[in-house]
Amino acid sequence: MAKVGLMIVTLDRSDRLAALAQAESARFVISEICRRVSGILRPSDRYAVPAIDEVWVLLADLPSESLIELAAHTLKDSLSRPIYAAAPGTPAPVPVVQVRPAIGACWSAEQLLPDPVILLTASHDACQRARRADDHIVVRKLDSAEDLINRNALELELRKALHANELEVFLQPQIELQTSRCIGAEALVRWRRADGRLISPSLIAELCEERGMMSQLTQFVLNTSLRHMMAWNSHDVDISVSVNLSAVTLADMNFPALVANALSTWNIEPRRLTLELTESAIVQHERSALEFMRQIRSYGCSLALDDFGTGYSSFAYLRGFPLDELKIDRSFVRNLVTDASDQRIVQALVDLAHTFDMRALAEGVETVETAEMLHDLGCDIGQGYLFSRPMPAERFLDWYRELRSDWAGRDGTAEIVAPV
Ligand code: C2E
Ligand code: MG
Ligand code: MG
Repeated sequence: MAKVGLMIVTLDRSDRLAALAQAESARFVISEICRRVSGILRPSDRYAVPAIDEVWVLLADLPSESLIELAAHTLKDSLSRPIYAAAPGTPAPVPVVQVRPAIGACWSAEQLLPDPVILLTASHDACQRARRADDHIVVRKLDSAEDLINRNALELELRKALHANELEVFLQPQIELQTSRCIGAEALVRWRRADGRLISPSLIAELCEERGMMSQLTQFVLNTSLRHMMAWNSHDVDISVSVNLSAVTLADMNFPALVANALSTWNIEPRRLTLELTESAIVQHERSALEFMRQIRSYGCSLALDDFGTGYSSFAYLRGFPLDELKIDRSFVRNLVTDASDQRIVQALVDLAHTFDMRALAEGVETVETAEMLHDLGCDIGQGYLFSRPMPAERFLDWYRELRSDWAGRDGTAEIVAPV
């Protein structure tokens, strides 16, 4: 049966594209993008450019799902090539801009055309996920009516669970690579449903964002983390905790005051709290983000830029926003030991962090060799399964105390700890 698919392409580096929108070369860039898109389409396909950094492609009569995958990869390769233009005074064309496309596509095998609003929403959603995915492409089958009902049911269940405080906060240690000491932990939400199934945290965050429950989720994770920290005080555990914020939180100007209240309720020093933001969240709320971040910083809390390298990776954010920590995405860390280009990227990111007076933290450290190499590259902190998977607060305390008794027996010089 023929299938229909919609691809939504966002062209990261929109900061530069947006700047170009005012310039004469904008028309040239857009027409070059259109030329590349139309170059891969079949006569029955259609495309539109609804914004300077977005392209929609409608693929009709698809004989198979693999064709939409193929189209997405071909389009990504084509759009990723630098765009050149003639510049006055230079004999050869110079690169004007290089975009980093993220492609989300949805397809449907229904005989009837899917509801366009559902197709568009689902493709947008796939595109948002593509921005976080390793290869920047997400292709999925359009949710059937049954899937939508399940999602609605899951939303109701999650609402109830949030209301009844049934979610949990797990903690994953962050290790100072120079000393092998645990200096912090990331708070990660966990939800086990009544049927015992664990729901992925990304899905929880996505549902909360989509269905207006994010403020509740963030407050739950924040307050639970601070409560654990207060309990640790009596065990002389003086580490910081990082809490993830979503894009919608960044637009909520009441949130900084909630943070200040929560810190005083649990009597936790602000320097022990780090809030993690992603570049895409900052991009979505650029106007409010700076004021939001300034307020958080004015209390003495820290700010970390999460998953760095997967989005815009723009210097402008590092220069323009008050950040304390750069979290290098695990896609650059995974093959660090064997991949020379990843080594160069991580070295560059570590140097970049230090240039802007930020700590460099590597995510996804899974082997001793990776931790050692990160240490040699000057990375300050490591987080990953090597040290520990995220764990419940009580287990975290035992883990920490065991590690501390290990430090007591050593002189504090670097020696990467193996998993416990
Ligand atoms: P993140 O903030 O980048 O969190 C790090 C993720 O990497 C966690 O996944 C963690 O379990 C995983 N991870 C840590 N070390 C390793 C490793 O060595 N190898 C591999 N393969 N993975 C590792 P998790 O807990 O599934 O969370 C996924 C994402 O969900 C988080 O990514 C964050 O974006 C979101 N999330 C989790 N908790 C919250 C929350 O409380 N609020 C919000 N807004 N988002 C959350
Ligand atoms: Mg995080
Ligand atoms: Mg991360």
